Amino acid sequence: MSIIKGTETIVNPLQTSALNKKGLCDYVVNVASGCLHGCSFCYVPSTPAIRTKQTQLHHKGVSNPQMDWGQYLFVRENIPEKLEQFLSRKKTWRETPEGKGVVLLCSGTDPYQNKQTATVTRSAVQVLLKYNKRVRILTRGLSWINDLDVLNNENVIVGMSLPYLDDELSRKIEPQAPPPSKRYRALQEGHKAGCRLYVAMAPTPPTMTLEHFKTDLEQIMYLNPEVIFWEPINARGTNGKRMLAAGLEFTSSIMSKQSWVETFVRQWEDIETAAKELGCLERLHIWPDPELRGYIDQAKLDKWLYQPTVEKWKTQTDKKVKTQVAKATLRKRGKTTAIL
Ligand code: SF4
Repeated sequence: MSIIKGTETIVNPLQTSALNKKGLCDYVVNVASGCLHGCSFCYVPSTPAIRTKQTQLHHKGVSNPQMDWGQYLFVRENIPEKLEQFLSRKKTWRETPEGKGVVLLCSGTDPYQNKQTATVTRSAVQVLLKYNKRVRILTRGLSWINDLDVLNNENVIVGMSLPYLDDELSRKIEPQAPPPSKRYRALQEGHKAGCRLYVAMAPTPPTMTLEHFKTDLEQIMYLNPEVIFWEPINARGTNGKRMLAAGLEFTSSIMSKQSWVETFVRQWEDIETAAKELGCLERLHIWPDPELRGYIDQAKLDKWLYQPTVEKWKTQTDKKVKTQVAKATLRKRGKTTAIL
């Protein structure tokens, strides 16, 4: 199938999200349907975001929205305008302890996969910042570096998926995405510019060992990320089929529940060992899968589900608290000066 591109309009640009269970956000904005990076392990085509749009996608020429993942992209160009209308009327804001009221771009596509999505993303972030919202960018694309004038902001944190630093491995697993060496260089640039950063060391293939984790984490720590998320590749929905179709031999080793659990547990131990050795354990944030329930220690699983990250956001609450403290101090000193 050749690449199918187009646009689509959206009524509600801001969706509440369950990704607070991963410490990521309370809302998501997805700037497109489909993703040209087409990573073989991607879970998105098996989610309702795509499954509920089968007929619509068929009408647009996509014959198999799951297996053709990576071959179609419909950009939602009206998002900034809709977001402005929506936020100007919105009176309440969801802020869970672990989602922290953050808006994630994106959970179901890549916000910086090409010029068209980058343009929508940039404008959407500008609108969110205008309304004093917190923004999390998650991308494998490189062009966010052109938007540092917008993204280098205390209300924005930029993260890149960097499961490994091996370009050859990346060519097999996510051949349409920029190689990890280029992603790393983009993060270096962001770091140099003073941008708030995080890394999603996810999802890691079962071939990775303790030594890989040590080497990669050491490099990642030079970027001084506020948090490093981790999860292994999970075989879910049609991604197993797509990984097999991509010739990834390791796929069969995680297709049975038992072997998947064993791999998960081994890599979880390995990454924690590596992080301990490198002195960055407190920045490591595990994304456990609820499917592990019954297979691993319950307390270990519960510790990480709905766990807030160690990231620090300058919050409205902080400002309020600071003002209250300052008012109390002045009262003590017998001053009545107004505090702004
Ligand atoms: S970049 Fe993200 S959304 Fe796009 S295919 Fe890869 S994993 Fe899926």
